[in-house]
Amino acid sequence: MSQPDFIRSRQLRVSYVAMVQCLRCRVRMPIEVDAEDLKRLRAFARLCRTCDRCQQDTEWVYLPMGVSR
Ligand SMILES: [Zn+2]
Repeated sequence: MSQPDFIRSRQLRVSYVAMVQCLRCRVRMPIEVDAEDLKRLRAFARLCRTCDRCQQDTEWVYLPMGVSR
């Protein structure tokens, strides 16, 4: 019996939208994250990213209410 070779472990790229807020200027924005990022956000509730408004890397806080669309 031959194995069907069309069955491959296809990596599903699921993305979520998480609402985050810049702790410096307080701007809120939805960002697209994958499952790993979301897990990390839920665990630490913080991330570091570049803010367009501050024009530098700032600390952002995760707002869990933003997950539902
Ligand atoms: Zn900012």
